[in-house]
Amino acid sequence: MAKDKKLKTFCKWSPKQIEKHFDILTGLLEDPSHVCKKCARVSNNKKALCKPAKLPVLAKW
Ligand SMILES: [Zn+2]
Repeated sequence: MAKDKKLKTFCKWSPKQIEKHFDILTGLLEDPSHVCKKCARVSNNKKALCKPAKLPVLAKW
């Protein structure tokens, strides 16, 4: 699940950071609860997004 690492919002990650923290990134993408209104990224941790907005509840598969 989401690890509370001291990282800036992944909206602002560089391609290098994405590669370096890929495991954290995939963890943050699991079961997304929030969407970034600016970048259209999704995450289960709103702290990872620069303009987080709650996603409507999604059907679970
Ligand atoms: Zn963003």
